[in-house]
Amino acid sequence: MRIYLEHLTKAFPSRNRKEKKEVIAVNDFTYEIPDGTLTGLLGPSGCGKSTTLNLICGLETPTSGKIIFGDEDVTKLPPEARGIGIVFQNYALYPHLTVLENILFPLQNLRGPDKMDKMLMLEKARDAAALVQIEKYLDRRPKELSGGQQQRVAIARALVKRPRVLLLDEPLSNLDARLRLQTREEIRRIQRETGITTVFVTHDQEEAMSISDQIIVMKDGVVQQIGKPQHVYDDPVNLFVAKFLGTPPVNVFGGEVKDGKLFIGGSPVLSVPGLSSQKVFVGIRPEGFVPDEQGMLVCQDPSTEVMGRDISIVCRHNNASAPIRAIVSSENIVHGNTVCFSLKPNKVYLFATDSEKRLIWG
Ligand code: ATP
Repeated sequence: MRIYLEHLTKAFPSRNRKEKKEVIAVNDFTYEIPDGTLTGLLGPSGCGKSTTLNLICGLETPTSGKIIFGDEDVTKLPPEARGIGIVFQNYALYPHLTVLENILFPLQNLRGPDKMDKMLMLEKARDAAALVQIEKYLDRRPKELSGGQQQRVAIARALVKRPRVLLLDEPLSNLDARLRLQTREEIRRIQRETGITTVFVTHDQEEAMSISDQIIVMKDGVVQQIGKPQHVYDDPVNLFVAKFLGTPPVNVFGGEVKDGKLFIGGSPVLSVPGLSSQKVFVGIRPEGFVPDEQGMLVCQDPSTEVMGRDISIVCRHNNASAPIRAIVSSENIVHGNTVCFSLKPNKVYLFATDSEKRLIWG
């Protein structure tokens, strides 16, 4: 089922009496989420991710714009009529019910022509439990399960009615690091097996990048960029997106373009033909630095951190406000007080200093 968001906007009245301005939590969001895909909705706290999800599921009403599932306009439908399954961050399981009863719950509430007999409900609940591999714990209560197992029950309960759309709001944030890794793979597997169009909200870029077919990066209610994770990482449209994706993060320098050359701290570090002379912000991915005695970017006080196959060189440069972090292969040993780098051009991004939009050269 495709989801089409058409000029979707949500404004909340200000809660603060002194400040009359409303909060535009989602601002003119237009995008078609393709059928059968997994989409990661990504951005910092307060950027409008949860509001977008709540609009899709019907917990919030848009100020303007439309939400279409397939060819059906669902903008005015209540949540229960939209055919959605939703999993919240805190799982919201019923503590007094067993796992099986929790999963059965949405089916028991069906009325009219959708009402099912008991045997069919049990069969569907067991199928959903099998899909998330929780069959062994059907008689337990939620408090007798680990966080990861509770998460699976919540997903089974969301899937049991075979929704048209599955929505997950920060589904992994209550899990420890190892379980997060495992559970995110599970979400990918379940989504592939069911083919249900799924949208999940996260502020964790690594999580979104690792399992999504496409990511949507938001800031202050406005969509910044949409695309395949690798594409958005490789080709960020602005400084915000470049900084938001990648660990360690992109390194940012103040620089200047003069006569088709990029200067950082007075040294010509890269040829950037076709760009007019101007001050710029320079973003360099950690993997964009090549230790090179002839290299024109000279950084101070290098220290190294061994990361197995690679090493990380941490150093300083007067044109960067934060320490520089370069990832290089472990044959590169650093001595002395300075380290010189040449740069991989496709890992260097330039941005206008006013709009922070990407400047393309070549
Ligand atoms: P987080 O990751 O912290 O959950 P988010 O990206 O999901 O953040 P939203 O919860 O969608 O962000 O909030 C977007 C903006 O809308 C924020 O500025 C928030 O304060 C505001 N907002 C959200 N709900 C309401 C509400 N009911 N009334 C007023 N303002 C709201």
